[in-house]
Amino acid sequence: MTDTIIADNITRVRDRIRRAAQQYHRADNSVTLLAVSKTRGADEVRAAHRAGLSDIGENYLSEALDKQAALTELPLVWHFIGPLQSNKSRAVAEHFDWVHSVDRLKLARRLSEQRPPALAALNICLQVNISGEASKAGCAPSALPALAQQVAALPRLRLRGLMAIPAPSDNEAEQRAAFAQLRALLEQLREELPALDTLSMGMSGDMEAAIAEGATIVRVGTDIFGAREKKPSDV
Ligand SMILES: *Cc1c(COP(=O)(O)O)cnc(C)c1O
Repeated sequence: MTDTIIADNITRVRDRIRRAAQQYHRADNSVTLLAVSKTRGADEVRAAHRAGLSDIGENYLSEALDKQAALTELPLVWHFIGPLQSNKSRAVAEHFDWVHSVDRLKLARRLSEQRPPALAALNICLQVNISGEASKAGCAPSALPALAQQVAALPRLRLRGLMAIPAPSDNEAEQRAAFAQLRALLEQLREELPALDTLSMGMSGDMEAAIAEGATIVRVGTDIFGAREKKPSDV
């Protein structure tokens, strides 16, 4: 995809975010656009940066590390958003600014222990399995309060909020109902942990519904970089 197309796509996505923010009485700058660049090359990330984006989301560790190595000159904020095996936590703790996909204490403990002392605390979102699908990653809503307390106490992590990937739906009311659940879970946690400030929710197909329900980070791949070829590992 050419730089011009990526820049035009980003303009369109920004317009959608601005319109949704206005419609739902949110401040324009209250929603961060995270460019999801899985399967895309370093050149495409560079084009997104040139078009004004600095938050980059990656799902696959080795692919992400290659891109980071090719882009060290850019002041990018790297978000790990994919499933993470505990035995791969060290590289994530060393090379990312955020992890959105923490869903168990063991993984959080390792990330905290492995976060290099020279770096700021690693920003964490807990991934919640909102739709209750057995195949989906994420902690059960009922397990969330205990997990949040334990993760918040880890010294090298900074617990920021929640992330979810609801079951896909074309129906805006259904989309909003799922995002409203995540928002309600965050509100509940904030009674004990008032510093939590992040709802990572909404993708290309449902970002307006997510913004309506309070998303502070929308994670957009397809509508910035075009359709992806399916990887066998994609769910
Ligand atoms: C791929 C992916 C996205 C982006 O999805 P699009 O529909 O391409 O915008 C967002 N979040 C996560 C966790 C992803 O894996």
